[in-house]
Amino acid sequence: MQVTEKIKASKNPFEAALQNFDLAANMLELDPNIRQIIKYPERILHVSLPVRMDDGHIHRFEGYRVQHSTARGPAKGGIRFHPNVTLDEVKALATWMTWKCAVVNIPYGGGKGGVTCSPKEMSQGELERMTRRYAASILPLIGPEQDIPAPDVYTNSQTMAWIMDTYSMTKGYPIPGVVTGKPIALGGSLGRNEATGRGVYYTTLSAAEHLGVPVKGAKVVVQGFGNAGSIAAQLLHGAEACVIGVSDSRGCIYNRNGLDVPKLITYKEKTGQVLGFPGAEEIRPDELLGLECGILIPAALENAIDGDNARTIKAKIVGEAANGPVTPEGDLILEDKGVFLIPDILCNAGGVTVSYFEWVQDEQHLFWEAADVYNRLERVMKTSFAEVLKIHLDRKVSMRIAANMLGVGRVGEAVKLRGLYP
Ligand code: GLU
Repeated sequence: MQVTEKIKASKNPFEAALQNFDLAANMLELDPNIRQIIKYPERILHVSLPVRMDDGHIHRFEGYRVQHSTARGPAKGGIRFHPNVTLDEVKALATWMTWKCAVVNIPYGGGKGGVTCSPKEMSQGELERMTRRYAASILPLIGPEQDIPAPDVYTNSQTMAWIMDTYSMTKGYPIPGVVTGKPIALGGSLGRNEATGRGVYYTTLSAAEHLGVPVKGAKVVVQGFGNAGSIAAQLLHGAEACVIGVSDSRGCIYNRNGLDVPKLITYKEKTGQVLGFPGAEEIRPDELLGLECGILIPAALENAIDGDNARTIKAKIVGEAANGPVTPEGDLILEDKGVFLIPDILCNAGGVTVSYFEWVQDEQHLFWEAADVYNRLERVMKTSFAEVLKIHLDRKVSMRIAANMLGVGRVGEAVKLRGLYP
C-alpha cells in the first residue's frame, strides 16, 4: 500500500502519464539523466484558427500539435477534434504515443494533435475549412519524415484527405505519406480503418488464453461505440462472445441475452446512436460499467474508471481500447480486485501499427493485400502482448507498469545510443 500514498487523485491525464512514467522508470532504475531527456514533450505548437462559419461570422478555434519524442523516429499520432481538448490532454496523448510505438517496436516517436471544437455541431464545410486551417498552421512540424498525423476521436479518413491535400498543395506535389488513416483511394492501407478494434480483439484473445478463460460465451461490455469499440465488439461477437452492454456519448443499452452487434452497427450508422436499438433496454452509465461480465472494453475517453467507480467493476479482463480510460487511482483498485488489465499502450496499438504499414506502403508505392495486413498485425500484437506479459510475471509488476517499462526502456536505450546534442 506504499504505492497508494504516492498516487495523486488527479483527473489531469498528463499528470497520470507522468505518474505512470515514474513508476516504470523507478522499476527500470533508469539513469536520472535519461529520465530528464525522455519524460517531457520535445516540442509544442499552440495555434489560433480563425474559420469562416456558414453564417458568415468568423469563429476562432484553439489547436495544438505536441511532439513528445522523436528519439526512435518521426513523431506519430492522431488528431482529436473534441470540445474537451486541452493542451494537457494532448501532451498526455502524445506521451502515450511514444511508449505505445516503442511497445509494438515500430520506428516512431510519439506525437498528438487536437482542436477544441464541437464537430457534431459543425457542417462539413466548416469542418473542412477548420481542418485545412489547422493543417496549414501546423505545417512547419509535419511531414512524412518528421511527424505523421492520423485519425483519433471525431476525426476520420476524410479529415486525413483534407490534411494530405493542404500539405501537398503547399509543396506542389502529392505527398500521401504525410498522414495515415487516409482513404484507400489516396494511398490508405487496407485494414487501417478496423486496425485499432482488431488489435484490441487480438490482445483480448491473448489475455483470455493466458487466464485460461474461453472467449466463446464470455459476457462483454463495451463503453464507447466509435471506430475502436464497435469493431472490437463485432470481432468478439464473431468469436461467439456475448456482447450484453454497449454505450456511446448519448446513452447505454443492455440485453442480458446479447446484442446483435452487426445489426447494432447498422442501426448506429442510420440513427447516429445506440439508444433505441430494438430489443435492448436503456441503462445508466454507472450500471453499464458495473455489469457482471468477463470482458470490459472502455473505448471512449480518459478517466472512465477512477478511484470513485473502480470498485464497482466486476469484469475479469479490462481491455483499454481508449487512451487513458483508467486513472492511476483506478489502476490500484482494479489490481487489488485481481482484474487483468490490458493497458492502452498495448491494447489499442493496432491502429498505429497499421498506420506504420500504411506509411511503409506509401513510401514504397507498393500496396499489400488485406490478409497480409491482418497477419502482420496479429504477429505484432501477439508478440508485444507476450513481451509485456513476461515483464509482468518476471518482475511482479502490474500489466500497466510492465508495458511502460517495455516502452520507456526502449526509448531510453535509443536516447542513450544517440547521445546528447550538441
Ligand atoms: N489515434 C490512434 C492512437 O491513439 C492512432 C494513431 C496513429 O495511427 O498514428 O493510437
